[in-house]
Amino acid sequence: MQRTTPGIDIGKYGGNTVWLACPGCRTWFPVSPRMLAPAAPPACCPACHREFSAKESS
Ligand SMILES: [Zn+2]
Repeated sequence: MQRTTPGIDIGKYGGNTVWLACPGCRTWFPVSPRMLAPAAPPACCPACHREFSAKESS
């Protein structure tokens, strides 16, 4: 088992991650599935820092 990079390992948590596309810059980034809940807080794009509802991008 290798673990050389801190933070998010893309692809490792396939079953527990939802990918969202930022409506502003089209950057895809992983978020918790909880972000899809009705009362979830807005997702924040790591590229342009735009906040948007996770439901908007689906
Ligand atoms: Zn963005």
